[in-house]
Amino acid sequence: MPLPDPIRVIVTKPMEFGRFFLPGPTEVRPEVLEAMVRPVIGHRGEDMERLLSGMDTALRGLFRTRRPVYVSTSSATGFMETAITNLSRGRILCLVGGAFGARFHKIAERCGRPADALAVEWGTPHTPALLREALDSSPGVYDLVTVVHSETSTGVLNPVAELAAVVREHEDILIAVDGVTSVGGARVEFDAWDLDFLLTGSQKALALPPGLALAAASRRALERAEEIPARSYYFDLLEFERRAPEFQTTNTPAVNLFYALDAQMERITQEGLEARWARHQAMAERTWTWAEELGDRTGRDFSVLAPEGYRSPTVTSVTLPDGLSGPDIVAAARAKGFTLAPGYGKLKPSTIRIGHMGDHTMTELETILAVLDEVIDDRIGGLE
Ligand SMILES: *Cc1c(COP(=O)(O)O)cnc(C)c1O
Repeated sequence: MPLPDPIRVIVTKPMEFGRFFLPGPTEVRPEVLEAMVRPVIGHRGEDMERLLSGMDTALRGLFRTRRPVYVSTSSATGFMETAITNLSRGRILCLVGGAFGARFHKIAERCGRPADALAVEWGTPHTPALLREALDSSPGVYDLVTVVHSETSTGVLNPVAELAAVVREHEDILIAVDGVTSVGGARVEFDAWDLDFLLTGSQKALALPPGLALAAASRRALERAEEIPARSYYFDLLEFERRAPEFQTTNTPAVNLFYALDAQMERITQEGLEARWARHQAMAERTWTWAEELGDRTGRDFSVLAPEGYRSPTVTSVTLPDGLSGPDIVAAARAKGFTLAPGYGKLKPSTIRIGHMGDHTMTELETILAVLDEVIDDRIGGLE
């Protein structure tokens, strides 16, 4: 009998910050990671209450709301499912323009909730006119609209404030917004935009380790949940609401991730939310200009997939010219020590995605753009 392989101990050395540009998960600052190395506490005790009440104001500020912000030990998809199972007792209209828009629709199907997709081509936004037409032409049919604010698979930023205003023209219809790559990186106003549900995850624009989801819900949303007996146990909005004023979680929380959240909320407060949005916007604009210049310099067809005016400040999808492949460019950048993503799903071969989100700054962005210049020039040289 051959002996089993020796157990390998994988020791990871700390990575140099600024080389990891996936559009999620994103790079986490060492001091945020270090905050997790503290003892586990009893989550029904005073320590937990202190932890949650300590970050309460910062969390409401992040969501721009006076409502409480719920924190769930799950990934963001858990709160997407919450929206589907807690907010509709009729038919759902899912705005689909990419992979995450489609996910809402799939969740509805899997949870046995009637839903239709209002689909646009990947890389295209949903306009208020399109939504108004869909809702007006089917009066009384829908009671929930789902929309992805920043569609991470394409880099499109949907005009959520305007879409929410269209939904508000219809009594009885709620709007649930996936803000996973917008909350903390782009302007999102829960109260001012009059949203019903807004969710995000820890590992995208918030630059935390994966494992937490955050959300806010309107009074209308809670009233709706009360009408739905089979709304899920783990993801019961009314339980989240009941626990919020006690600064308690619904179930056993991933306490060490909450430590990281606390540390990161402190950092976000210090930077200032508006400054954080501006930093993301500047990184995005630099990336769009870079893609344009790349086209001019090489005489090839490079372009930003999302149309002007509908581009996400946190992630850019760059369409590649014929002869270049997303996975190949990603592999070549990786060989130089830099991580980015190819396109998502059907866009995989023809695009690359740069996640300029979380705690990155312009300095680090310039470094990866320079690496991409080298990689792309090499390949174009090979084509000639
Ligand atoms: C990553 C992502 C999700 C899914 O998040 P998980 O934390 O993996 O569940 C949902 N929506 C958008 C827009 C995303 O970018």
